[in-house]
Amino acid sequence: MKTGEHEPMKPSKNVPNKLQRKKDECLWFDTLSMKEAEEAAKRGKVVILPVGSVEEHGEHLPLCTDSIQPEYVAVEVAEKTGCLIAPPLRYGVCNSTRNFPGTISIGFDALHRITKDVLEEFIRNGFRRILVVSGHAGQSHMAALRLAAQEVIWNHEKEGPENRPRIMVCSDYDFAYELKGKYFSEKDGHAGTIETSRVMAIRPDLVKMKGKSSFPEPPRFEILAHPEDSFPSGVIGDPMVASREKGQLINDYVIENVAKLVKDLML
Ligand SMILES: [Zn+2]
Repeated sequence: MKTGEHEPMKPSKNVPNKLQRKKDECLWFDTLSMKEAEEAAKRGKVVILPVGSVEEHGEHLPLCTDSIQPEYVAVEVAEKTGCLIAPPLRYGVCNSTRNFPGTISIGFDALHRITKDVLEEFIRNGFRRILVVSGHAGQSHMAALRLAAQEVIWNHEKEGPENRPRIMVCSDYDFAYELKGKYFSEKDGHAGTIETSRVMAIRPDLVKMKGKSSFPEPPRFEILAHPEDSFPSGVIGDPMVASREKGQLINDYVIENVAKLVKDLML
């Protein structure tokens, strides 16, 4: 090697293995180099944008519950389909839980704006197939994501069929809750059996305790200043019957369905 030439960088021994990228494993968009990103866009790679929240999930689950679920699904789907994962958005609109300790809620306009900007930027970079998967499924939160995607689609509607983007917006709970009635109580909800089981399967180290069962019935239509008063434990459902095995079953079902959406976008 001549003087002045750079030696290729070797991974530092101090970097934990999990943070190192294996050969051919380019799942996370922002681990690509400039050239690799350009190449991935040319190859028409689908991009998943995981969206989460910082939100109370009872005394037994972590505040990142809604973030780690879609991120786990995205990694599994990317391994199956070869799609890319955008850096996640980990803040959401949490109207019904915002007065509980730990919930850090952003407004509708903020989520709408950042989602729209991120989608437009991926499109400007040549990525025209994007799937937004949100672990938080609140109505205003999902409406902000859908409106952002809708406006982006309208912005590009006059482009030729080759350049016109396709965007899908879903929550992994669109699929997880399909299992209610069959395997789980119809009344299961926030931080209940399904959600607790999923986190037990993804990050058991973050599950703090068994959790207590609670089946409150918050008013369906009335808009309240303190919705938390109608479910003071922050839980709707029965985390006591949650298990890792149930969580894996639900996660596999969600992964299968999200992978189908990615394959549809690859057509
Ligand atoms: Zn949740």
